[in-house]
Formats: sequence, structure tokens, C-alpha cells
Amino acid sequence: MNEFEVIGRYFRSSTGALAKPNDAGINTGIDAMADSGIETGIGDDCALLRVPDGHRLAVSVDTLVADVHFPASAEPALIAQRALCVSLSDLAAMGAKPLWITLCLTLPEVDESWIGPFSCALHETAARYNCALVGGDTTRGPLALSVQVMGSVPIGKGLLRSGAGIGDQVYVTGTLGDGAAGLAAVQQHLQSSENDITYLKQRFFHPEPQFKAGAQLLSFASAAIDISDGLLADLGHICTASGVRAVVEIDQLPLSAALKRSVDVEQQRLWALSGGDDYQLCFTVPAAHIAAIEALIADSVLDAQRIGEICAGEGVVCRLQQQPFDIAHKGYNHFG
Ligand code: ADP
Ligand code: MG
Repeated sequence: MNEFEVIGRYFRSSTGALAKPNDAGINTGIDAMADSGIETGIGDDCALLRVPDGHRLAVSVDTLVADVHFPASAEPALIAQRALCVSLSDLAAMGAKPLWITLCLTLPEVDESWIGPFSCALHETAARYNCALVGGDTTRGPLALSVQVMGSVPIGKGLLRSGAGIGDQVYVTGTLGDGAAGLAAVQQHLQSSENDITYLKQRFFHPEPQFKAGAQLLSFASAAIDISDGLLADLGHICTASGVRAVVEIDQLPLSAALKRSVDVEQQRLWALSGGDDYQLCFTVPAAHIAAIEALIADSVLDAQRIGEICAGEGVVCRLQQQPFDIAHKGYNHFG
């Protein structure tokens, strides 16, 4: 199979919209999405896309390299699922609605037993989040993939990192530390029950982009970021961009039951603060909107917890029972 046959069989659809291979792994070109904004999809020199009126295009790209970001031997379906979810998480953090993706795939060889499950999982995951593959590039080389995601945000409403103000409360969605624990489980560095290991691995391979929360926050949050490199590092980006300091209450960190059962308190805190791969949202809320956010939380419409406060200064500091709490480790930095 050459490059064009690979694209045609696994990635392209006749409609240029959502390609979906059938059970035999062959792309039938059905399932074109109604009102997807795609005027021209895969197969021409560029895709031509229509952003909804009154919206801005939100664009982000992430690269995953084998044996740096995932084990080269990982199941292709899990690689696809995770790569897409990780990229989509950036759209969620902006409060954007997902629309389209492009895929740059570098493969050491054309191995259909790898590309088949990879493309199926990619199309399935894309469909789950209502977005369509509209283009990409396919090359030969060491296994790596870049997923570019595109979405729409109402003009002037995007959740920036730079909007946090003094007195805002800091919140996070979901639970923290599961991604790092899941990676440790994948690397067989974690001893726990089979159920908890399964749960934590799933949290690593299938981080859930927080689109519902992101959309809710559009009206209430002053700043937001997705937690990819650990809470301290990512909340630190909000502080830098906003020119403020954050104080995090260690005993408010939301932790899953599986994490609590699997490691001691010190390790739980370390992973919650500095482990990466959670892809939850960290956001700040000004006083005027606290009641609205707390009401959403109380009604179980929004799964989030207050973990601290924004004040004057810089950087992120932690506190435990009114005392400063020192944590030596910082988030993951590729060149650090
Ligand atoms: P060009 O030479 O103009 O860059 P390519 O041969 O790279 O064109 O790609 C042909 C078409 O297939 C383009 O529309 C491109 O977006 C699409 N494409 C290539 N690789 C992929 C991929 N991995 N996933 C989705 N679309 C792809
Ligand atoms: Mg090309």
C-alpha cells in the first residue's frame, strides 16, 4: 500500500466529511455529518470550512512521539483515542465547541493490523465528540502523530489564561492525580487492586475532554486552562498570564477513591499537584459568579471543586491547615 491507498482506505470519505470504516476496516464514506461546516474535506489541497456566524475559530495542535508520550507498543486504538482526547482538551479549556480535526501521521511501515484499529478508534472518538477528520498528512518515519483540532467560540467569550483577578476563587473539575497514577500503572510501577488499576489506566488512555464544563464556564469563569502538565504548572500559567498569585489548599484537592486506595497520602498529593495527564480544567471565578457556579455544582450539573484563591503576587503556593506547604516537584517540562 502506498500513501494514497492508506489515506483512501483508512482516512478519506467520499463526502469529505466523517469517514467511517466498516467492520472489514474499509471506509465506506457514509455518515457525513449534517451541518458540519465542511465545504471541501479530505482529497483536495486544502479543506474549506465554514465557521458559524458570530464565532471565532479556535485552533490547537499537539504532537505525540512514540516512547516519549506513549509506549510504541501500546495498542493503536488506545494511541488514537488518547491523542485525540488530549488535543480536544485544549478546545474544551477555551470553552470551544469541537468541529474538525486534521491528522499528521508518521509511520515506520504500512502495517494494516496497526492502521486499521488506529483509524477505527480515531473515527469513533471523533464521532463521539461530534467532530470530523478533514485533512492531514501521511509520511514514513519513526512513529509519531500530530492532531490538530478546530472548534468555535462565541466572539469575545473564549476562556483565556489571562483573565484571573485578585479575589477570584480557583476551581478544578473532576479528580486530580489519576492520569499520573494511570501512567505508573501502564509502566507497571503501581501495585493496587485489579479494579483500581483498570480504572486508573483508563483515566490515562481515555482522558475525557471537559466540553460540557467548558461550555458552562463561558458565562462565569475569568480564566481557564486544561491540566496536562500538573496543577502547579498549569495554574502557574494562569498566574503568569494574569499577573497574580494562586494559593492552593492541599486538603481541598479532589482525589478519586481509586487513587486514595492505591498510594499513600504523600504520593496522592504529589500526583495531584505535579503529575500530568489529567486533562481536567482549572478555572477561576470572580465573586459575582461564585453563587452561580456553586449552584451548578450543588445540582450536579458541574463536577468541580473549589481548591483555592487568587491574590496579589506571583506564582502558585500551597497551604495545609493554614501553614505553608512546600512541594519540591514541578510539572513536566520537555526541555527541563
Ligand atoms: P498534498 O500533497 O497536497 O499535501 P497529500 O497527498 O498529503 O496532499 O494528501 C492528500 C489529501 O489527503 C489531502 O486532502 C490531505 O489533507 C489528506 N490526508 C493525508 N493524510 C491524511 C491523514 N492521515 N488523515 C486525514 N487526511 C489525510
Ligand atoms: Mg501532504
